[in-house]
Amino acid sequence: MHPALPPHARRVCGATTRLPERLVLAALRLAPEPYGEPEDGRVERRLRCVREAHARGDHHARVRDVDGVRAGAVWARWRGNDRPRTVAVLPDCPAVQTHHRGTTPCTAFRNHPGGHSWELGGG
Ligand SMILES: [Zn+2]
Ligand SMILES: [Zn+2]
Repeated sequence: MHPALPPHARRVCGATTRLPERLVLAALRLAPEPYGEPEDGRVERRLRCVREAHARGDHHARVRDVDGVRAGAVWARWRGNDRPRTVAVLPDCPAVQTHHRGTTPCTAFRNHPGGHSWELGGG
């Protein structure tokens, strides 16, 4: 018999991979630098899945923000030990956590499965 899970048992998946260089270029095409900065703008190459720990479905990692207020972000998805094959712009999750210091937006993508970013510990 399993003991009852403690309240903070929800954990982030945390699977890691690296973004292939051609997808760095694809991410820059999807979300160009707003002021025409050169190619080495901020693209996250060391990817880490932000989903709640999951047994099935693709891993998802945020690669690059799209310029604009909550305009979404470029995301990479991959499966198992594969490298990501594509990147795509996904809208932001609209959920926000309200607390005494203000609000914290969920950093995942809209309609993501599992818990919001602030609900997940560790990883
Ligand atoms: Zn994952
Ligand atoms: Zn969320």
